[in-house]
Amino acid sequence: MASFTLQGIPVSRGIAIGRAHLLRPAALDVKHYLVAQELVEAEVLRLQNAIAQVHVELQAIWADLPQDAPTELGAFLDVHALILSDPMVSEAPLDIIRTRHYNAEWALVTQVDELSAQFDEIEDDYLRERKADIQQVAERVLKVLTGSSSQVPSSDGIDERTANMVVVARDISPADMMQFRDVAFTGFVTDEGGQNSHTAIVSRSLGIPAVVGMGNASQLIEQDDWLIIDSDAGVVIVAPPTMVLEQYRERQAQLLKQRKKLSKLKKTPAVTQDGVEITLLANIELPGDATPALEAGASGVGLFRSEFLFMERSGEQHQLPSEEEQFDAYRKAVLGMKGRPVTIRTLDVGADKPLEAAEHNILNPALGLRAIRYCLAEPQLFLTQLRAILRASAFGPVKILIPMMAHGFEIEQTLQLIAQAKKELTAEKKEFDVGIPVGAMIEIPAAALALPMFVKKLDFLSIGTNDLIQYTLAIDRADHEVAHLYDDLHPAILQLLQIIVSTAEKAGVPLSICGGMAGDLRLTRLLVGMGFRELSMPAALLPEIKQAILNTRFDTLQPYVKKILRSYDSAVIQETLSNMEALGKTLH
Ligand code: PEP
Ligand code: MG
Repeated sequence: MASFTLQGIPVSRGIAIGRAHLLRPAALDVKHYLVAQELVEAEVLRLQNAIAQVHVELQAIWADLPQDAPTELGAFLDVHALILSDPMVSEAPLDIIRTRHYNAEWALVTQVDELSAQFDEIEDDYLRERKADIQQVAERVLKVLTGSSSQVPSSDGIDERTANMVVVARDISPADMMQFRDVAFTGFVTDEGGQNSHTAIVSRSLGIPAVVGMGNASQLIEQDDWLIIDSDAGVVIVAPPTMVLEQYRERQAQLLKQRKKLSKLKKTPAVTQDGVEITLLANIELPGDATPALEAGASGVGLFRSEFLFMERSGEQHQLPSEEEQFDAYRKAVLGMKGRPVTIRTLDVGADKPLEAAEHNILNPALGLRAIRYCLAEPQLFLTQLRAILRASAFGPVKILIPMMAHGFEIEQTLQLIAQAKKELTAEKKEFDVGIPVGAMIEIPAAALALPMFVKKLDFLSIGTNDLIQYTLAIDRADHEVAHLYDDLHPAILQLLQIIVSTAEKAGVPLSICGGMAGDLRLTRLLVGMGFRELSMPAALLPEIKQAILNTRFDTLQPYVKKILRSYDSAVIQETLSNMEALGKTLH
């Protein structure tokens, strides 16, 4: 068979090599027939029984979740159970059987197709992706109806093939992922999905190489084809020639060795060879991410993106999380970090992170009522969150981080609301850290240029480079058509970073970077050389960054940094950066 390569969206790290195990959607081959009038109620019962059986299956998966299962898996199972109980799924198909006399499978597929079409109309990417959850639930019911046993191979007698199995599917539900975890599967490839899809989130948590959004890979790949997943590049090589296979095996072995070596650095402080100490922190999305962050050697959480607690909500949970629910989540993260600081960013919704419960600004969401602007427009919602964060601060060191600040009055109003939340809690005799540090994200160029306004009133600052680049270069960070213009080495960005670091240093205000630049290995020496001392990144990237710091001498960086900051020529900046990189290699 001829080899070919497919490109998709990378959502995880590493290389997987194995044979394809195809998951065919049950919906594709359902039988279509009409049921005689006297058999209609029996057919209704058949569908009801199948739905009931899937409820039992989901509960069984819940009960079998290992202790260390990512918390979001439980949440996904809840979402699937909610969908299954929704009358749109559990009752509407029964009506179709009764009125149109369709057989149970046909009725279910008809209803799900109708729901899917409604979802397709939704403009919002995130909500549109929830269509996949409905389809995954329907797949389960269809499997029960058609009597096709679970497609997950049994873990008995794992042979060479199952031990190196790459799952290929149109889409994979998180519940199925959990079952696959028990069998030794090595990676997965799906036609659907994006950075935000549930399977992508779970694959990152489980650390499994994966590529999603591949279009029609599940039709092009055949059962038992050899596959290579290069998860970092988002590439899948089908039926690779022996030589390519050997090269990837070699790379895979090297990566494994490297990862093992790096894990030994967990307790080593990140200090340059001439004694400059860098604090490495983790970015987390859910409280359950605290444990992997600790395991990766993080000295704390530099960014807890609290808005993830407010998204992922449907059905009865549609309303926003209560103070108690938020308090539980924040406390869990604080306890999980065992005494290390946890920086909780207040609700950063809007733009590419819309809130289901809120009206969206459809004119220009990235410039609209997002983040702190939204919170100040909804003071009750903001107060609820501030109270929950304050209460969690009784259980360990917590900092409050405010996103998207640009105006002096936003700082004033925020500090007033924090003072009010403290007053209320004191009156209610609830404990909290009275001296809780409050900081601002610097992610709007105006904030960077007017930094003295911030350093006077706040305890710390954190640069959100993702948005700082978006707003400085006028590039929508979610739009793939302008992705090639998104340049973190643009002289304007470097100048802004330089202004921020020197102003904060003069004022003696602690400063960190929590945007993507902090976790980019290419930039570590530049940032350290510029004077940054705190970097916050996804936990999985932390060991590599630490190693780069250990291989750096701060005093050798200065000539390179000066040259980069003086240059307005992209080629010179790139070349100087490469020379800086080479400098690290000589220190190995
Ligand atoms: C940023 O903008 O760099 C940042 C860290 O926040 P987010 O990516 O959540 O917008
Ligand atoms: Mg941001």
